[in-house]
Amino acid sequence: MRARAGVAPWWRFAVGGSAVASHALLPVGPARDVLYVAIGVLAVAAAVVGIRRHGPPHRAPWAILTCGLAVWVAGDTVWILRERLGADPFPSVADAVSLLGYVLLAVGIVRLARVRNPASDSIAVLDAVLVGTVVLAVLWISAVGPAFEAPGPHGLAAVVAAAYTVGDVVLLTLLAYLAGGSSFRSRCLWLLWAGLAATLAADVLFEASTTLTWVGPYGVRIEWLWLAGYALLGLAVADCSIVAASERQPPPSERVGLSRLAWLWVVLLALPGAAVVQWLAGEDPDSVELAVAGCVVVGLVITRMLLMARRMVAQADRLAALADADALTGLANVRAFSIEVARRLEDGGRPVPVLLVVLDRFTEITETLGHRVGDELLRAAADRMRDAVGPSGYVARISGERFGVLVDTGPQGALDRAGDLLLELAAPFTLSDVSVSVDALVGVAVGPDDGTDAEDLLQRADVALSAARTRPERVARYTGRMSAGGALTPHLMTELAAALENGEIVVHYQPQITVRTGRVHGVEALVRWQHPVHGLLPPASFIPAAERTGLIRPLTLYVLDRALAQAAQWRREERNLAVSVNLSVRDLLDPAFVHDVRRALDRYGVGTASLELEITETMAMVDPNRSLEVLEALAGLGVLLSVDDYGTGYSSLAYLQRLPVQRLKIDRSFVMGLVGDGPSAAIVRSTIELARNLGMTVVAEGVEDDATLLTLQEMSCDAAQGFGIGHPVPADEIPDLVAAIEERIPHVLRQGVPVGQRPL
Ligand code: C2E
Ligand code: MG
Ligand code: MG
Repeated sequence: MRARAGVAPWWRFAVGGSAVASHALLPVGPARDVLYVAIGVLAVAAAVVGIRRHGPPHRAPWAILTCGLAVWVAGDTVWILRERLGADPFPSVADAVSLLGYVLLAVGIVRLARVRNPASDSIAVLDAVLVGTVVLAVLWISAVGPAFEAPGPHGLAAVVAAAYTVGDVVLLTLLAYLAGGSSFRSRCLWLLWAGLAATLAADVLFEASTTLTWVGPYGVRIEWLWLAGYALLGLAVADCSIVAASERQPPPSERVGLSRLAWLWVVLLALPGAAVVQWLAGEDPDSVELAVAGCVVVGLVITRMLLMARRMVAQADRLAALADADALTGLANVRAFSIEVARRLEDGGRPVPVLLVVLDRFTEITETLGHRVGDELLRAAADRMRDAVGPSGYVARISGERFGVLVDTGPQGALDRAGDLLLELAAPFTLSDVSVSVDALVGVAVGPDDGTDAEDLLQRADVALSAARTRPERVARYTGRMSAGGALTPHLMTELAAALENGEIVVHYQPQITVRTGRVHGVEALVRWQHPVHGLLPPASFIPAAERTGLIRPLTLYVLDRALAQAAQWRREERNLAVSVNLSVRDLLDPAFVHDVRRALDRYGVGTASLELEITETMAMVDPNRSLEVLEALAGLGVLLSVDDYGTGYSSLAYLQRLPVQRLKIDRSFVMGLVGDGPSAAIVRSTIELARNLGMTVVAEGVEDDATLLTLQEMSCDAAQGFGIGHPVPADEIPDLVAAIEERIPHVLRQGVPVGQRPL
């Protein structure tokens, strides 16, 4: 029956114990000898069966240990036979066999130690040698030495007897090393320990048999102690815990280990202790032996101290490196970055450009594809940036998806390098499960003009980032005119929750026209924060942080509520304007969101056809199982769903077609370069055609001038939105704005595309 892991096989101990006890009780004679050999053979057999049954991951060490035990039993059998034949039993060929057993057992223990911890721990080796030296010295003084000094013809006998004791101590020392100085957490190791300790006790008593007469001739009265040793060794290898004991152990702790030091101290005390005992017993202390052992111990202790000191210096270096490194990417961290910026500024004479690189919509990626993918993406992006800036550049991870880069150029060169970085980051990242494209942005601030330390420069670069967001090249350098609202301090972030409560969050509306007629059919609700100190903050300065903190959910619901209230108000004024509201990925992951939308529609009695919800491309890539349900439920309500910023993400139209979306909003980065730009025009034209074939309508975002609008008209784009038509304005300005647009735009559209500006 297979022993259950962790349950001590008590019956085996009972059988082994009774067998050994019966041997001790039997009178000297053939029966006792037969029982001795039988118990030894049984112990070996139990070990063999144990290895076969439990199948430890590494069998060799256990097999070698079993061979060692078998050789010991064989040696004893030879001894018994020679004794029976009347030959002088000690020392004899039997001892040569038995001493070979020591070699095998030592090899077995060393192999096991290597399997458990392949990198040998030099301090653990030294500790084991220290303990072994002290134990050997004490045994020498107490037992081995007196045996040598005892008168008699058997000089060789004393040497062989001493070899047994030395062998036992060596095996125990090896075992102590194997346990790494810590407590044995495994039953089989305890049993090995106990078996070797019993053997050592038997060998020492045998050695002392000249003075301890009760031991009997050739240790006849303590034979049971050797047998107990064999039984324990056999039970050790037969135990199911050999499986766990031969697994690789966690690397030894590099801490100084106070309890281990305390133990070493206690063991070292044994040396002077032995001298004191001798002195108390009225004997002359063995000063030569004590001096030799003392010298060895002092040498070992000094070596240990040197090793420890070296290890601590290495550890200190490692800690210093860790304090400056980012754990995820291995790049420098913000602390190291600040020091490097300060160093470069102190060098003086040259401008120090700081590039703040941000992976836009990173939160969406982690929310949709998981944090593991997010981490992988950060590592891959870090590698690309490191390669892009080369050895003269310096890349650090500032926080989350924000990286700080230092380059060895002037301000213009920094903008060029920023462009190179963006190019490098533009290619899709092939991660373990998925291929991801990211939209990166770079804000540049140049010290010492824009700031005199890393904190200032990063803050200014952050302000520049908001400007980069609105530019097709996705890079901007800080200028004094830029509003400080670009960057939100953590303090402001805590204010955002309160701002939602006290009406500081306002919604502006940007008109959207039907290109065919030039009439305004709807407005997009765009959130702003009317901050009492910093003025009107754009969404880019608080939406990403709101997404990170989860505040985006109440924010979306607030904007939805305001937009629908406004739509109802316009309806009462007989103005039929649809409103579109931007969603965040968190909204899509929450099935309760559909009920929230339903409730808001009911609250204001606005028909579902008057509401459009915008999701971004990245959000459309949300794990279908989690988001499709919400999207379908929203579509089921009759709400119009559109894909915002189309073209900046990594989805294909074919993929989007599987989602219940009816509209594409082409990102302004394509629309702004439409006139006179071949590639953008081709992209927009083919997107419009493809979308139409798939049954979707197309809105062009970022229409800044009439020429673009006319080009879109020529391409049969359905709808348009942009500063060239109307800026986002508060609700009360919408009536006048709509009137102005409907007065001007149909007139523009009637002109057609000016000759010479037609796209290819
Ligand atoms: P979006 O949804 O693509 O909104 C259009 C953005 O482009 C608006 O910026 C708008 O002011 C700007 N824009 C419109 N026409 C032009 C133009 O002709 N040229 C240029 N350069 N820009 C134009 P805004 O208001 O700063 O919003 C930025 C983004 O913030 C929005 O991009 C949207 O993704 C997000 N956002 C705005 N309101 C909300 C909201 O309530 N919830 C969520 N989750 N996101 C919002
Ligand atoms: Mg939008
Ligand atoms: Mg957009």
